[in-house]
Amino acid sequence: MSDTGVRFLCSLAVAVAVAAAGAVLPVAGQEPQYDLLVKGGHVIDPKNGRDGVMDVAISDGKIAAVAPAIDASRARRVADASGLYVVPGLIDIHAHVFYGTADNSYLSGGPTAAQPDAHSFRSGQTTLVDVGGAGWRNFPQFKREIIDTSRTRVLSFINIVGNGMKGGPVEQDLADMDAKLTAMRIRQFRDHIVGIKVAHYSGPEWDPVLRAVQAGTETGVPVMIDFGGHNPPLSLEDLLLKHLRPGDIFTHTYAHVRGRIPIVDENGKVRPYVWAARKRGVIFDAGHGGGSFLYRQAVPATKEGFFPDVISTDLHAGSMNGGMKDILNVMSKFLNLGMPLADVIKANTATAAAVIKRPDLGNLDVGAEADLAVLRLHKGSFGFVDTGGGKATGTQKLECELTVRAGRVVWDLNGISHRPWEEVPPPDFSARPRRSTSR
Ligand SMILES: [Zn+2]
Repeated sequence: MSDTGVRFLCSLAVAVAVAAAGAVLPVAGQEPQYDLLVKGGHVIDPKNGRDGVMDVAISDGKIAAVAPAIDASRARRVADASGLYVVPGLIDIHAHVFYGTADNSYLSGGPTAAQPDAHSFRSGQTTLVDVGGAGWRNFPQFKREIIDTSRTRVLSFINIVGNGMKGGPVEQDLADMDAKLTAMRIRQFRDHIVGIKVAHYSGPEWDPVLRAVQAGTETGVPVMIDFGGHNPPLSLEDLLLKHLRPGDIFTHTYAHVRGRIPIVDENGKVRPYVWAARKRGVIFDAGHGGGSFLYRQAVPATKEGFFPDVISTDLHAGSMNGGMKDILNVMSKFLNLGMPLADVIKANTATAAAVIKRPDLGNLDVGAEADLAVLRLHKGSFGFVDTGGGKATGTQKLECELTVRAGRVVWDLNGISHRPWEEVPPPDFSARPRRSTSR
């Protein structure tokens, strides 16, 4: 029997035992057993095959139980999720969050990157993967300034360029693309570095891809390729069928940019070698960004059933106020293109976790760190903008009501986990004098 089945039977056995004893929990004077109960929501937890109305109980920052009808009196705090979807905390496998104020630093310590906590929780994300902001030279700075100071779980695809994604000539320096030193940094920061990024190189050589794949093979991590801009253009077919390994990631799937062959051909068909690449295990990532999602590509591709394996934002200052907006807007686009809701959720939870080889994430396993999101699916008439200036309309749109990170409520749009203000006692300043913090 599967773990899920065993767990379900165990929780069923407990429920039956409690019912048989006629016990009502908690017993007077007994402390509630759970810190938070997310009650009455439709749980979609693809890794565990859960898809139905269930309650999720959390204690000590971990998922304590997922079962039908857990008594509200057993929890200190209850979030009413009726009519809403409860999903594992979303994972964005393509974001740019190495924020800073340094000159000429683009997405590697510059202001074009985004602050993780300012964007993550409000759209249900508990894990953001920065792709290529830092290279082996400045990864310690990224860890110190961003990973260690964010409440969002921040992971990294380290850039094959030692200086990271600083733009301009820095990213064109083949001499700074070192497989050995990149692999050393990955081994040093195993918990934080989950892949290697190649992007923006415009020369005619394959070397950046080859060196990234070499470092990835040495360390067992995937490579993500932002392909294009090569002069003369390199073969997309060779990239997908010869250079990338199964499990490597092709991002900006629905882009049509200078110097890169688009996945949909002149006759509106997905190229046969793109289908072949999917068959051999290459992962296709949406990577919406500020210039990489065109309905002219996405509509014909998805009509053929070519949906993304993972849906990501490519979050940065050039995408967040354009057609991209946030992860839920990008997920809603695919929902309206015909991708079933369960598949959309799977892409950003179980699949994303598998792609970055972090099976501890993207699920509601009992005992897992309690990261989850409660989403509302609005029905109505909505507009969605692509990066070419076009618009599509749709009838469904996701919005985040509640986000929980490591058991703590970090976002609550309409206060579904909060008590009415009249029930909250007024502030009590009598206990201890207020300490000044302004010195
Ligand atoms: Zn990007």
